[in-house]
Amino acid sequence: MPAHIAGPMHATPAPVWLPYPDDVNALLPSLWSDNVTKSDSGILTIAGHSVTDLAERYGTPTLVMDVADFTARAENYLSAYSAAFSTEKGLAGVDVFYAGKAFLCTAVARWVHEAGLGLDTCSLGEMMVARAAGVPGDRVGLHGNNKSVAELEYALDYGVGRIFVDSLDEITLLESIAAAKGTVAPVMLRVTVGVEAHTHDFIATAHEDQKFGLSVSAGTAAKAAEAVANSAHLRFDGLHSHIGSQIFDISGFQVAAARVLGLRAEIMAEHGVDLPDVDLGGGFGIRYTSQDTPIPVAEMAQELAEVVAKECRGLGTNVPRISIEPGRAIVSPSMFTLYRVGTVKEVDTDSGIRTYVAVDGGMSDNIRTALYDADYSCSLANRNSGAEPAIVRVVGKHCESGDIIVRDEYMGADVSSGDLVAVPSTGAYCRSLANNYNHLPKPGVLAVTADKVEWIVTPEDYSQMLRSDPGMSAGEQV
Ligand SMILES: *Cc1c(COP(=O)(O)O)cnc(C)c1O
Repeated sequence: MPAHIAGPMHATPAPVWLPYPDDVNALLPSLWSDNVTKSDSGILTIAGHSVTDLAERYGTPTLVMDVADFTARAENYLSAYSAAFSTEKGLAGVDVFYAGKAFLCTAVARWVHEAGLGLDTCSLGEMMVARAAGVPGDRVGLHGNNKSVAELEYALDYGVGRIFVDSLDEITLLESIAAAKGTVAPVMLRVTVGVEAHTHDFIATAHEDQKFGLSVSAGTAAKAAEAVANSAHLRFDGLHSHIGSQIFDISGFQVAAARVLGLRAEIMAEHGVDLPDVDLGGGFGIRYTSQDTPIPVAEMAQELAEVVAKECRGLGTNVPRISIEPGRAIVSPSMFTLYRVGTVKEVDTDSGIRTYVAVDGGMSDNIRTALYDADYSCSLANRNSGAEPAIVRVVGKHCESGDIIVRDEYMGADVSSGDLVAVPSTGAYCRSLANNYNHLPKPGVLAVTADKVEWIVTPEDYSQMLRSDPGMSAGEQV
């Protein structure tokens, strides 16, 4: 007998990780950026600006960045790693490269550079943004498993400091391009060391059966090393390993670091070269919901420094300069997405009544829930609720039942049309993965400080979105 006939209406159960809130209106501080608070009346406020004003003035959906939080996070990464890898401790220093694919625009490229970080790119478009922002080429890295001739030529002209070579084909191509330009390309080899990071399968990238990198176990990395070591047009700077994303287990990084340093020792001995750089990649896990328990930045830096020192001692090699490439960990917690509620629906399901709260964006501005089964949290942002907490599912407005933003969260049961809902930690892989599904324009990104509110990415308008359709005459565009 269906549940709704068998007894009184009951709500769907909460997932085991989601605690019943003491106060459904309170913000869980660890999920929000430094300068986000709630006023006594329950209005979410960022650096003194209320989201009710921001929504009124700038519209929804909008991504909102806490600029001071972002720069503090970038500076904190650099200072924690610089302290752990200092020459006083017998190490050879460190570089932190922000992974631009997480979220990139010229303002962010500039802030990252001013904070002393380098910038990783993986396409012509990303390099163009870095260059327009005034980031010097030698502070830029270029990744990618299938770089085009145009991208490699641009990188050499720009003076990119590190090209992460990902295949044997690329070695041949890059060598010929560098030779034709009469120059020498700076090369780091991206190797896969067979470490499987403990994270969601779709975003783990160090399995051997995957498109990235040169396999150590299959001998491809050794072949690549020989080719680069013997090339007059390639400068062999070092090795790179990236084991995945949203990783909470330190041991994956430790094993990967040990294997890369072991490979480095073999290559240096065999080819009589010095490899001054080792890049340990990014993927440091962050907190999207209360179930996530990230490793503190300074602790991770310290652990990695100890592994590097110990392995190099054991191998009898010098210590390389280390680099890391955090993307998500720097930008994600510094932004939230502000939506307005349109419709609220109670749906009778096998496990009880589920409340669907539909907002004015969705999988076009945050596809991570649909793509990776990611969990997010959210909060009513325009008022306090006096109602009992209820489990809700926040969904978008797209023609797709998988168009879910927040799978499960407690909100006051009276959430209704016209309310504002804010989803924290949407800085990484949300705007950068935005799409125009259902012909929705992509939202803008508002950068907020105490004395300034400005677009760092303007909201796309209909004429921008539709101009690639030659059938849209000017008159039909908004
Ligand atoms: C994606 C990526 C990163 C950044 O990953 P995060 O999870 O955002 O820290 C770093 N390095 C490489 C090579 C990547 O592909």
